[in-house]
Amino acid sequence: MELTTILNRCHHFRGFVYEHARFSTDKKSIEVILRPRKGSAALCSRCHLPAPGYDQLAERRFEFIPLWGFFVFLLYAMRRVDCRRCGMVAVEEVPWSDGKRTLTKAYMLFLARWARRLSWKETAEAFRTSWDKVFDAVEHVVAWGLEHRTLGQIDAIGVDEIQYAKGHRYLTLVYQIDIGITRLLWVGRERTIESFQGFFTTMG
Ligand SMILES: [Zn+2]
Repeated sequence: MELTTILNRCHHFRGFVYEHARFSTDKKSIEVILRPRKGSAALCSRCHLPAPGYDQLAERRFEFIPLWGFFVFLLYAMRRVDCRRCGMVAVEEVPWSDGKRTLTKAYMLFLARWARRLSWKETAEAFRTSWDKVFDAVEHVVAWGLEHRTLGQIDAIGVDEIQYAKGHRYLTLVYQIDIGITRLLWVGRERTIESFQGFFTTMG
């Protein structure tokens, strides 16, 4: 069975085609080449609507869930669109990435799920990735959750502070700790007043 067949089954996106899979030159990673399906227009990342093409950027690597001890990367050259609605040239929106991070959404969700069971450090070690990438994954999933869920009434919150990296660098984690529900609501990279105000802004 071809790897691209498996990917088409579990990680298929309209308008994009898995062209082929190959080993990287050092044989430590599997690289899967993605390209736009012929005739399918790119979506503007600002207004999320199709827009005429402008040009294509250099190929980027998006890290996917590792397989059988190999790192897996999706390789794709993002298109830019000349969007008349937005009145600007913008990079296209791709469904497997949030556009900012180097990890695919699927891999971030995978890491964030493990990070609920293991410590972030253990998660990073288990999947041979860095603590920062686990942090990014959790932050992405928490932010996504905030945008897509209704919070309802929150009676109690708990604030946790963890030290990370060397030196005095702290993360602020805010949990909802009501009866029957404990969930991570927010993560902030600092423990300054400004950072914490970010939490209240996000929560409205
Ligand atoms: Zn637009």
